[in-house]
Amino acid sequence: MLRLHDYRYHRPDRLSAALDLLEDEGAIPIAGGTDLMPNMKHGLFTPHHVVGLKGIGELRGISYGDGEGNATGEDEARELVIGACETLSAVAASRLVRRHTPSLAEAAGQVAGPQIRNSGTIGGNLCLDTRCTYYNQSHFWRKALGYCLKKDGDVCHVTKVGKKCVAAHSADTPPALLTLGAVVDLVSADGPRTVPLADWFVADGIWNSVRRRNELVRRIRVPLPGSGVRTAYRKVRQRKSIDFPLLSIAIATDLGEDGRVREMKMVVSALGSRPRVVAGLDKIATGHPLSDVTDAVAEPAHRQSRPLENIIVDPEWRRAMVPVYVRRALREMG
Ligand SMILES: Cc1cc2nc3c(=O)[nH]c(=O)nc-3n(C[C@H](O)[C@H](O)[C@H](O)COP(=O)(O)OP(=O)(O)OC[C@H]3O[C@@H](n4cnc5c(N)ncnc54)[C@H](O)[C@@H]3O)c2cc1C
Ligand code: SF4
Repeated sequence: MLRLHDYRYHRPDRLSAALDLLEDEGAIPIAGGTDLMPNMKHGLFTPHHVVGLKGIGELRGISYGDGEGNATGEDEARELVIGACETLSAVAASRLVRRHTPSLAEAAGQVAGPQIRNSGTIGGNLCLDTRCTYYNQSHFWRKALGYCLKKDGDVCHVTKVGKKCVAAHSADTPPALLTLGAVVDLVSADGPRTVPLADWFVADGIWNSVRRRNELVRRIRVPLPGSGVRTAYRKVRQRKSIDFPLLSIAIATDLGEDGRVREMKMVVSALGSRPRVVAGLDKIATGHPLSDVTDAVAEPAHRQSRPLENIIVDPEWRRAMVPVYVRRALREMG
């Protein structure tokens, strides 16, 4: 049986109270707990204080915004504002999200299974810990192996030689949010700050974002896409009912009235410590009908993907699936 260590649970109902609690170095926030609780049971996190976020009204709501996070009516709307504690089920079912950013609704709806989506939040998904075959194991298992760089050890069992953790970014919604140009509003006792999602992730599997440990994601803001924008999200997983992604592809394409590509953004994820934005697509795709460039844009996606043995499924197979799923995602849009 996996036992939890002793800790104190707090359930503030105001954001300011949560931020004060998080000033303690031994404190950690918890939203749905669907990732943090298993990790605590595995001894990967042993906080003295666990600060529950679900009772804080300021972290809820899905609405139109004016471009600066203020709620507004549909006519003046420039963005969608999604509170960090909105559940993945709520995001997937939201009329606004489905209407304006279907790939985000699709990604949220493909996380795990229904029970987990009813509890897990979009803020927790953005802050999801990276995953690795040698890390997401019980303490007994990790101790027998001699631990690893990410927790308690000094070697990486994936790269063998390297001094860097390459555990996989495994969250479903960030790739879709990246293609949509989302920004993240953070807040701590020092005040608020806003980080474009494009600058959020770093290539370090130990802590793969620029979020400081005392900061909370307050909300995510997604600019409303223009009428020509088509989006898609595709995920490879072992069982359709519950698993983390082995590979995921998110695409947003802006098509002119003549059906030709004006802009294309693509993100390939679940291979390394951060989602990879595929470079050089505009040069290949801009000015051409979408159906003419399907194979051409799949090629750089494949070339730029370098999966490692951080997940139990064969990296070369995962890499081979990249162009297959890119083509499927593009056909879905066409
Ligand atoms: C069986 C199983 C299958 C899963 N499958 C998938 C999957 O397919 N795809 C996927 O993406 N995820 C999957 N997950 C992981 C998890 O359920 C989701 O990522 C979920 O969105 C996490 O949200 P949460 O609210 O439960 O986060 P929590 O577990 O509460 O927190 C996760 C991390 O985020 C931090 N955190 C939470 N909220 C905030 C905030 N507002 N500000 C700052 N930090 C915060 C916590 O401190 C913690 O470090 C799976 C989990 C399980 C158990
Ligand atoms: S990639 Fe290496 S250091 Fe990171 S969790 Fe896996 S084994 Fe540990």
